[in-house]
Amino acid sequence: MSTGESSQQAGELSAFFKGDYVPLSQARVSVMTHALHYGTGVFEGIRGNWNEEQGVVNIFRLREHYDRLLRGTRLLMLDIPYSVEDLCRITVELVERNGHRQDIYIRPLVYKSAELVANLKLQDLESDFTLITVPFGNYLGTDLLRCCTSSWRRVDDPMIPARLKICGIYVNSILAKTEATLAGFDEAIILNHDGHVCEGSGENIFMVMDGRLITSPLEDNVLPGITRDTVIQLAQSELGLDLDERSIDRSELYLADEVFLTGTAAHLTPVVQLDNRDIADGKAGPVSSKLQKMYFDIVVGNNAKYRHWCTPAAPRTGGAALEENLPQHATPDIGA
Ligand code: PMP
Repeated sequence: MSTGESSQQAGELSAFFKGDYVPLSQARVSVMTHALHYGTGVFEGIRGNWNEEQGVVNIFRLREHYDRLLRGTRLLMLDIPYSVEDLCRITVELVERNGHRQDIYIRPLVYKSAELVANLKLQDLESDFTLITVPFGNYLGTDLLRCCTSSWRRVDDPMIPARLKICGIYVNSILAKTEATLAGFDEAIILNHDGHVCEGSGENIFMVMDGRLITSPLEDNVLPGITRDTVIQLAQSELGLDLDERSIDRSELYLADEVFLTGTAAHLTPVVQLDNRDIADGKAGPVSSKLQKMYFDIVVGNNAKYRHWCTPAAPRTGGAALEENLPQHATPDIGA
């Protein structure tokens, strides 16, 4: 793999594109690209968390993200020549080259790169893999969420499976998020086709009721979130909580002791109001707060017991990622 550095502006971030590390400004696709027209791709959202004392960006549960990504490639017949190990190695290399010294978002994308439209046969279309990294802060823009129930319903498995991060499916999330934010809320809670609580536009949902932790089951068209899995493990092993994975009625959320959302971009964020009604006393609850604190410690690499979930990447001296060097389009608003 060549470096692509010869034509790179000083300070410009790199991307991994067509098998090579290239300046971000040169990672461009044609308007003929199949995925641009039809959403034929799968992607991941991964966080790297800057640890000042360690001098590294700790990438959280990197392998698990690439396991999920490669599972998604099977359904969409996306062939790429990389294993999970290759993808982890490429990611660490790109993060180190980009020299980030702050929290970042890592976005891998496998997509139908064929420059061919009016062809709906996946088996005819070649694929490619690309990867970008950008600085990333608080995705939801607030620490306590005011949510609404979306008028949009989650897509059902026989339509497009919600258990994979398929590009085109995100139109569903985007319609819900847009509706919620235009109405003045922070996030949408989406119900599935039979009216059960599914998830947020880019987050899984949990509620606490009478000391039990409850979350929607994957069969209710829920993305198997890596943060969801992390929180379930922590709640059970560190707090000794019982977990129910079962369908949740809409009305249960209004009556819960606590509700919170989890996601790579969203971390663990309490929901304090739903449809203009306070949840319990309208403040972050004790279970949410305890889990959130534990989660933050773990993702920055400060908890030795869970350090195996963190992959360190050390910024190279002279890396590109100084705030003032960011290209205009590399805004952090790509979470989910
Ligand atoms: N649900 C949806 C629809 C999402 O987009 C995300 C973000 N990937 C999640 C849940 C949370 O998944 P994770 O914890 O793996 O980021």
